[in-house]
Amino acid sequence: MHIGIYGTGQLARMMAHDGKKLGATFSFIAEPNDDVSAIKGLGEQVMFSGNESADDIYKALGEPEVITVEKEAVDVPLLRELQKRCRVSPNPDVLEITQHRLREKNFLNKIGIPTAGYAEANSAADVKKAIENLGIPVAVKSIEQGYDGKNQWHLKTEQDVEKFLETYNNSPLIIEQWVPFEAEVSLIAARSLAGDIAFYAMAHNEHRGGILISSIVPAKNYQEKFTKRAQEYLSKILTESNYVGVLSMECFVKGDELLVNELAPRVHNSGHWSQAGTTCSQFENAIRAVMGIELGNTELKGPTAMLNLLGKEVAKSDITIPGAQLHWYDKQCKPKRKVGHINFQHDDYAELEKHLAALEKQVYQDD
Ligand code: AMP
Repeated sequence: MHIGIYGTGQLARMMAHDGKKLGATFSFIAEPNDDVSAIKGLGEQVMFSGNESADDIYKALGEPEVITVEKEAVDVPLLRELQKRCRVSPNPDVLEITQHRLREKNFLNKIGIPTAGYAEANSAADVKKAIENLGIPVAVKSIEQGYDGKNQWHLKTEQDVEKFLETYNNSPLIIEQWVPFEAEVSLIAARSLAGDIAFYAMAHNEHRGGILISSIVPAKNYQEKFTKRAQEYLSKILTESNYVGVLSMECFVKGDELLVNELAPRVHNSGHWSQAGTTCSQFENAIRAVMGIELGNTELKGPTAMLNLLGKEVAKSDITIPGAQLHWYDKQCKPKRKVGHINFQHDDYAELEKHLAALEKQVYQDD
């Protein structure tokens, strides 16, 4: 089966790697300024700069049977046009929701899934009113084009608000209550064309400056307490949106509350551990789902950890953890850029945590 992937980064790369093992072939939709080094040699790259017709794109992609995505920032009208020519999974309607923070939060609340309190703002008066209602501190985020802590501000005091407003240009924002969370966890699931759902184990994630740095699975202190609830939420999201593919749900844990922060309509960095920790990785299941074949086994083999390489080059020989797998994306190493990750396991959770802490210290010793 021939599959088109919208996007050219490491997620597209890892989906294509796993998909090739299933006999699939790939081509990619690239946009101007995309870094295409991660997908080099994996299939045709087709440039979409906004002017090309869907027909041209479809033909240049090699008339794929299905098109999927590796990012939120996709051109939904293009995908709607492409949908007249082949299957697009996940469907453009859900992509339109998840690429827009406000639509996403409205959708979650409509189907009864709790999030932090939020308000929309398009002017300084809106920002002030929202903060008056929600209380300080707040997280301020651009409604579109924000990920990995980009286009985000944490306003802790009235002075922060004043300072923020000095340069604010009335761009669309979402203002969220700041959640003093105990932990950040995520749950990832695949939903097949037939409607079957396979969940991965819940991951406990650590971020630095808004960027994921590590995940450890299972989320020791939260797995038991929250898995059932998180699975109910995710199942609802998947079925309500008639989703096909992999979807990731990032949450805050605060006491007894599980608040959904963000959805990603794709494979997710907090699921990279699945390459080592399960028989069927999130990448393989994303491809299985969109191909319309049965999903693979997502059962956790044992405690597994993942450390992200953010602007850090690491050689295999530098890693002393037995059995550790280095995944390098063949991208140019730039500060804070996701250039690779390391997966490793240990039957003893405490030992795994020790390995993770030591490796993180080793990799980030200069920071
Ligand atoms: P996001 O781009 O929404 O995933 O945010 C990136 C990171 O910023 C999250 O993983 C959290 O660590 C932090 N963050 C975002 N929103 C909030 C919030 N409302 N309260 C507390 N922390 C937040």
